[in-house]
Amino acid sequence: MDELVEMARNVAEAITRRVKREAVSKFGREVAMGADGTPTLYIDRVAEEVAMDIIGKKANILSEEIGFIDNDADYTFIIDPIDGTRNAAHGIPFYCVSIGIGRRDGSTDDVEYGLVKNIPTGDVYEAFKNKGAYLNGEKIRASQDYSDKIFVLTLGKSGNEKTWRKVNLHTIRAMGAAALEMCLVASGAVHAYFMPREILRVTDFAAACLIVREAGGEVYNADGEVLKVPYTLNVRSSVLAVSERKIMEELV
Ligand SMILES: [Mg+2]
Repeated sequence: MDELVEMARNVAEAITRRVKREAVSKFGREVAMGADGTPTLYIDRVAEEVAMDIIGKKANILSEEIGFIDNDADYTFIIDPIDGTRNAAHGIPFYCVSIGIGRRDGSTDDVEYGLVKNIPTGDVYEAFKNKGAYLNGEKIRASQDYSDKIFVLTLGKSGNEKTWRKVNLHTIRAMGAAALEMCLVASGAVHAYFMPREILRVTDFAAACLIVREAGGEVYNADGEVLKVPYTLNVRSSVLAVSERKIMEELV
């Protein structure tokens, strides 16, 4: 496992270096179709190639654009090479690499290591199953201080009326990169991240689920059920990451 963790860190580092070398004006260009039929943008393709080069055949890969690559290995890397592509394409400095590692054919419950790296800032969130969550090597905890509660929500065409009615008098942010927004719950910066519609896939939240849980928070779906999703791109889910259960009850 140590070797795989090192490899995940190398992937995040290499994607960061590569993306920073590219011109932002090229990020949003469509170059192909992804495994799920949505267009692959230039930046997604470049980042995914960097990841595949480093991982090679040392692990199986489930990645957003290319789908599942079975290398007959014990472990699978569940990767979103760039989460927040639209932000990247518009020059909004909030997007990341997300990498979860778990034994093959598992679910979000079986992820043993998670890494989310904020590409523009270089901040690295990590979690090791049963061993805590970290931001740049320092242990993090979901917030228990509700004196200035902040909810991060998906608004607009990916949001919904019901959620908006419940929260419109609270302090709200909407930032456009699910994995990073979930990590803000883990670090105690905000108290909830909510994507109320069934849009996200395991590649978006495999790493961040472990990071939130290891920080003492919990991750549910929009029905208030504890989130558990297998390693496949065929399942789309709502996601509600919270610092504690009572926040989920407030939003569902
Ligand atoms: Mg992506």
